[in-house]
Amino acid sequence: MIYNEEFETLPREALEALQLKRLKQVVQRVYHTVGFYRKAFDAAGVQPDDIKSLGDLKKFPFTTKQDLRDNYPFGMFAAPMSSIVRLHASSGTTGRSTVVGYTKRDIDTWSELMARCFVAAGLTKNDMIHNAYGYGLFTGGLGAHYGAEKLGASVIPISGGNTKRQIMILQDFGPTAICCTPSYALNLAEQGKAMGVDMKSLKLRIGIFGAEPWSEAMRTEIEALLGLKALNIYGLSEIMGPGVAMECIEERHGMHIGEDHFLVETIDPATGEALPPGSEGELVFTTITKEAFPLIRYRTRDISRLIPEPCRCGRTHYRMDRVMGRSDDMLIIRGVNVFPSQIEAVLVGVEGLEPHYQIIVDRIGNLDTLEVQVEVSEKLFENGDEVKVLQNKERQIVKDIKDYLGVSAKVKLVEPRSLQRSEGKATRVQDKRKL
Ligand code: ADP
Ligand code: ZN
Repeated sequence: MIYNEEFETLPREALEALQLKRLKQVVQRVYHTVGFYRKAFDAAGVQPDDIKSLGDLKKFPFTTKQDLRDNYPFGMFAAPMSSIVRLHASSGTTGRSTVVGYTKRDIDTWSELMARCFVAAGLTKNDMIHNAYGYGLFTGGLGAHYGAEKLGASVIPISGGNTKRQIMILQDFGPTAICCTPSYALNLAEQGKAMGVDMKSLKLRIGIFGAEPWSEAMRTEIEALLGLKALNIYGLSEIMGPGVAMECIEERHGMHIGEDHFLVETIDPATGEALPPGSEGELVFTTITKEAFPLIRYRTRDISRLIPEPCRCGRTHYRMDRVMGRSDDMLIIRGVNVFPSQIEAVLVGVEGLEPHYQIIVDRIGNLDTLEVQVEVSEKLFENGDEVKVLQNKERQIVKDIKDYLGVSAKVKLVEPRSLQRSEGKATRVQDKRKL
């Protein structure tokens, strides 16, 4: 099923014609309404009329997170406050939060894009959606909520936290779908088990997880724990919020990007050079329909890859691969690039471990050190000598990390339930080098 058949299956040529028309309009508009863009375009020697084809966008300068910070809180808005009906702010995981605004039409667009995502996940108005994304300034909760209502599904606005109560609601209301971060899904699974609830016998059949990087191995783990099909959803507040891209249930491989509303490019994060579709690099988005907060060539810092091949589901919009991590989350350990999600993939593949881990990076003298703390499961000790079992396990993980990622790590196995649990976005890495 496709929510907006006409726009989601537009032949590429028609899609690109629409994109070009919309791009011309937005570039004109920001030039005339946002001081930042007028200055940036003038400084780069480009004018809105320079957009003759989609490729001309490359001549235009990037917008960065720092630009948004410099214009905090409302300096990047392209519409007067009187036409803004909603404000959100990013969680500020990497510094001062950035503020975004929406006109009524922006909210409508966002709701539709989220409704498309739900339908791509196989949901209909007959589904009941347990929405455990945080409500508030974070875009997750309200973004998913409006999309669920637009679809006509029944939404439970549970938000994040209060995990025991969530388990009760899951049992009593019997929602068929759940939205939350993958780390919170694990937290729910664990809490349910502790309460003696068979999580697999719940009515949940679809999980829509995103807002933080996760691995394919984690998908398998969550599906086994919760007895549902897990799908990946991507978004960021600067570009809209959740619903920028979503996997389809037919393929569950790569997330379709709402390309009638966003243009996407891939660049080399080090040089800013544009890369051909399919290459791994940093994703750069341009919003082509937003009224309140349009962004031109916004550098997301998210590392992924576009999948231009047609998809079985019939949608013509390009897909983006799983986000490996943000370029600023990438750990460079003695010269080797490592993303936390790659460490996660190794850990989830090792038997006898819980999917709860922490990564601690430090520098001793001139040498970077990487320590991985991971919880062991109770089962590990079922047959025998504790110390020996632990030592062998540690050795095996050290070897796997070295084999798969090419770095030496120190591995510390810790007691079950001793690491901090996530209620929203998990914090997996402590980088003590920055302190
Ligand atoms: P903040 O930047 O403060 O965390 P956002 O809530 O806007 O604020 O977070 C957006 C970011 O979350 C994205 O840029 C990306 O790094 C991450 N993210 C969102 N969805 C996914 C996903 N499905 N996989 C990996 N990372 C994701
Ligand atoms: Zn598809």
